[in-house]
This record gives sequence, structure tokens and C-alpha cells, in this order.
Amino acid sequence: MKIPFNNLALQYRAIQQSIDQAIADTLAGSTFIRGNAVQAFEQRFAGVLGAEHCIAVGNGTDALFISLKALGIGAGDEVITPAFSWISSAETISLCGATPVFADVQRETYTLDPSAIESRITPRTKAIVVVHLYGQAASMEAIVKICKKNNLLLIEDCAQAHLTKEGDAYAGTFGEVAAFSFYPTKNLGAYGDAGCIVTSNDLLAERIRRLSNHGALIKDDHAFEGLNSRMDTLQAAILLAKLPELKNWNAKRRAHALAYTGQLEDVSGISVPAIRAGTTHTFHLYVIRAQRRNELKRFLEERGIQTIVHYPSALHNLPAYGHLHHSPSDFPVATQLQDEVLSLPVYPELTSGQIAYVCENIEEFYQK
Ligand SMILES: *Cc1c(COP(=O)(O)O)cnc(C)c1O
Repeated sequence: MKIPFNNLALQYRAIQQSIDQAIADTLAGSTFIRGNAVQAFEQRFAGVLGAEHCIAVGNGTDALFISLKALGIGAGDEVITPAFSWISSAETISLCGATPVFADVQRETYTLDPSAIESRITPRTKAIVVVHLYGQAASMEAIVKICKKNNLLLIEDCAQAHLTKEGDAYAGTFGEVAAFSFYPTKNLGAYGDAGCIVTSNDLLAERIRRLSNHGALIKDDHAFEGLNSRMDTLQAAILLAKLPELKNWNAKRRAHALAYTGQLEDVSGISVPAIRAGTTHTFHLYVIRAQRRNELKRFLEERGIQTIVHYPSALHNLPAYGHLHHSPSDFPVATQLQDEVLSLPVYPELTSGQIAYVCENIEEFYQK
């Protein structure tokens, strides 16, 4: 049996008619930038989340960068962010001229540890960039409290958290602003790069819209300098066609995750991912912690099962952050996770037979 980590072709075949129609309509209309589908997607996505505004941009990294810029984050500012994440959540802080200040994560949930935040606050701290890693909501109740108490702005990285919830509220509605990515393999993925920013602050929304389009809302109306970061009409049309499927796809990911956990929770040598009580995890990734992780990965590869490590280096251990002079033990949980985490295939199109095959092979590995 061969189980690739993702299978986007299978997803395309399931919805081919609506995708092909969306692409054909866009080509016939030929308004490739700022076409009608962009605004339609913005309205629908904001509506699903219950937010006032959605601004479509070029990708998720730009969404973070523009969000921070719009909030006025710049030179001399410090922004607290998890030491364990994809690099975008930290590098966009640096790109603004500010300093990313890492804080450790929780071993069970992989998300920012609220008890690790306050010791990292200084008079220069302006904001927190929180990451809902792997589809799990970070501890928002506690983090929102810390932000209020210390007068800090809150930016949510929702690149892995489309329709993730804490309580009744969607990830992306807790902070001033939230950044989403529609990278092809995300829970809602375009057929190329795409992203968006969600906010319910009218003034901020206008600033963000201008920043993404050379400082202009309409042609030649440059209030200030910005950048060129717009979602293509083609990507918006594809996302519009896919959006009605998102809840169903997330439910399938969750069912697969529960199936994995049911079969793997008693296997000694691994820990299954925890789901925080009161949250709706959307399982962008199903990430176990494994002893002899690299050996297990190779063993599964030989059996035709593709797995990925998200991420093999905590941010503070990357050469990119050498200038911050951290030692691995500064954020011990993040450093431990880099050696333990392993993502198993969890896309909606996976079958129960494939999940059983993955689990049998993991069991066999630890029985050796
Ligand atoms: C994917 C991702 C991003 C960046 O999104 P792009 O669209 O690839 O730029 C940011 N943060 C996290 C946590 C991500 O997983």
C-alpha cells in the first residue's frame, strides 16, 4: 500500500465540475486582478467566521506582515511569539523592523504556553502573535486576558486553523486581526499562493486594504506606500468553489484523527495529540510525539507511508535567529518537540483501511 502525505489530485477529482466551471468563468471574464470573485470570497469568508472584514492578499506570510504593519509594529518594538511554529509567524515580526521574542509552548497541545508569556514582557512589548498550530486553538481565554492586562495587541496566525474554535468563537475572532493562508495543502487551499486577513476593526481594515495595494483603495488614490499583495481572481474563484466543502472536510479530518487516536493511544513509544477541552480542533496536521522518531519515519517510508516533520528545528535553534543568541534549553519544550514530532497523513480523502495500515505499521515498529 502507498500512502502519500497529501493527495490534492483526489480532492480535485471529487469537485472537478465546480472547479473547472470557476476557472472557465474567470478566463471568460478575464479580470485577473481584483475581479468579482475576490470580493465575493472576502464577503463569504468573513461571513462564515462572523467577522466584519476580510481582505484577500497574496499569501499567508504577507497576511501576517501586513497585519503587523497596519498595527504600527516597527523598529524598537518587541513581539512575543511561540518558539515552535512555521517561520512566517516570527520572520514577519523581523520584516517590520521589530524583534521576535520567543516564548515556550505546551508539550501536550503544541501551542503557546500562557504561563511562559509574562516573564517575556518588557516595556517594549507591543503585541503577541499567537499560532493555532496544527489546527488546535491556542489557550485564547488566558492569552486574551494577558493581552488586556498588559495592554498588548493580539494577532492570530490562523494559517493552520480554518474554522478551528474555542468555545463558540472561531480562531481569527479573538484578536485585533488574524492572518489566514490558503497554501494548497492547508485545510482550505488554493491552486497556488493565496491568503487573507480578517478583522472587525473598520479603520484597521481600510489600512490593511491599502497596504496590500500600494496604499490605494481605488486607482491612483495612494494615501501612503504599500505593497503589491492581492489574491488573484483565479484563486478567489477556486476558493469560492471549495468553501462550501470546508466544514465537511474538517469533520472528516477530525474523524480520521479520532480513528488514529483510538488505535494508537495505547502504543508504548508514542503519544497521541491532545485536544484541549472546549475547543474544536480542525486537524490540519495529526502530530504524534514519537520515541526514535527518525527511525520510525524511515520504517514507515519503507512501508510506503509518507510522513513529515513539522518542524525539525524550533525557531530559536534556526540559523535565521542566531543573532538572538539563544541556547536550545531556553525553550526546552520547543527543543524537545523538534526531535519528537511526526505528522501522519490526515487529509479528508484518506480511507479507514489506510489509517489501519499506518497504525499497524507503527505498532509493529515499537514491538521490534
Ligand atoms: C502556512 C503557514 C504560514 C504562511 O502561509 P503562506 O501562505 O505559505 O505564506 C504562516 N504560518 C503558519 C503557521 C503556516 O502554517
